[in-house]
Amino acid sequence: MPRPLPRIAKLDHAHVWHPFTQMRDWLQREPIVLVRGKGSVLWDIRGREYLDANSSIWTNLHGHAHPRINAAIQKQLRKVAHTSALGFANEPASRLAGELVKIANRGQHAPALTKVFFSDDGSTAIEVALKLAYEYTRRTRGKSSKPRFLALRGAYHGDTVGAVSLGQIDLFHKAYRGLLFKSSAVDAPYCYRCPFNRAKPERADARTYRRCNWECTGRFEETLAEAAREKRPYAGFIYEPRMQGAAGMIPQPAGWLPRVTEAARNHGSLLIADEVMTGFGRTGTATNSGHSALFAGQHEGVQPDFLCVAKGLTGGYLPMAATLTTDSIFGAFLGDYAEFKTFFHGHSFTGNQLGAAASLASLSLLGSRQNTSARVSLERTFTKELSGLWSVPAVGDLRQEGLVAGIELVRDWRTRESFPLAEQAGMRVCEAMAKRGVLTRAIGNVIVLMPPYCTTKAQLRRMVAAVADSIEEVHPG
Ligand code: PMP
Repeated sequence: MPRPLPRIAKLDHAHVWHPFTQMRDWLQREPIVLVRGKGSVLWDIRGREYLDANSSIWTNLHGHAHPRINAAIQKQLRKVAHTSALGFANEPASRLAGELVKIANRGQHAPALTKVFFSDDGSTAIEVALKLAYEYTRRTRGKSSKPRFLALRGAYHGDTVGAVSLGQIDLFHKAYRGLLFKSSAVDAPYCYRCPFNRAKPERADARTYRRCNWECTGRFEETLAEAAREKRPYAGFIYEPRMQGAAGMIPQPAGWLPRVTEAARNHGSLLIADEVMTGFGRTGTATNSGHSALFAGQHEGVQPDFLCVAKGLTGGYLPMAATLTTDSIFGAFLGDYAEFKTFFHGHSFTGNQLGAAASLASLSLLGSRQNTSARVSLERTFTKELSGLWSVPAVGDLRQEGLVAGIELVRDWRTRESFPLAEQAGMRVCEAMAKRGVLTRAIGNVIVLMPPYCTTKAQLRRMVAAVADSIEEVHPG
């Protein structure tokens, strides 16, 4: 006899519509009702313990209930929770803008990112960049120009209509085509499944053994050249630096990003970096130039015209986002009031004081030497532990950058044959992992591991072991 559902689970079943969820399946199972967290551990309403192996959908950095972030929020709460940025300034948001500008320009060449527009989540940060780039282009190239945008295949930049228009995942985006504006797509450097990679599959990250002539960058340049021939250059190129997240954790071979972004810039395109997932140290700590980098673009020495951040900004505690940009973009919106050059855009919670206080505490933690060296050490352990997954036959590719890993499941690693999406190969592995006390979410056939930075080495080992055991259980080789 199944145990009766807890009251909260019944309420959830009765009324809550969950995102990206087939609710018919959801209603057939008892939901995991999470009630408490500490560090990398979460507890549910039945007292069961779990490891948060995807940092609560890629948001959490330092663990749950971190004393410094909790104290910062509580301290701010004693003053005021929220005031409007429409007409008023506030202390934590002003200080946060200053800190973001500092870390975004560290070790970077021009253009300097000097202005910060706050919003609420990843989608709105993208929406802000999109509208600014659109209007900036019209103001500089002429009001009759029709700015258009270039994105990577498989791209996901959020769920608002502008962000969806930039998106290139048919499963999510096709249904809404009638609502959207058209954007163009170029191939992402998905080495594992790249048609130009002539190498046979090996038990290693495909980037390391690929055999190609960088056809991907050649085709990128050809796309730009074609747009130039048509006299319709792209106003903006949007990308996730280093690792494309919701596309399935697709990492870029070193050198790809500088090549394509330089080509896009030479073509007159603005660069929009979506660091919603990759930001705040997620893709690793060290850079080529020896700087400790908090943004993925810094690893490759690429400075965008727009830097969009969200998820980890507050340490993953509160919904807050920011779009950083340059004096040049800002300048295009200055004028006499009657010229109506104002950026007519904003949200009720723009510059929220609690969110900004949490963000300042998170940035202060990230900036400490101790935090950086702990992350470096955790990244190394992660690499070592993940390498054991190559012995699991259903693992086709294994892609790690810093503290993010994507594990692509395949029916046959020798041929790279995929599981059909309808089989929910990844989701079934995640369900088996939950039974082992490890929570994450798959992207199609890709299992994601993205531990909070406070995860201990023993916890990390448990996360990876749960992946291995669950794959063996669900897809025995
Ligand atoms: N950009 C990227 C790269 C993302 O991963 C996401 C969310 N997964 C978004 C944008 C949208 O962010 P949000 O869900 O906070 O709107």
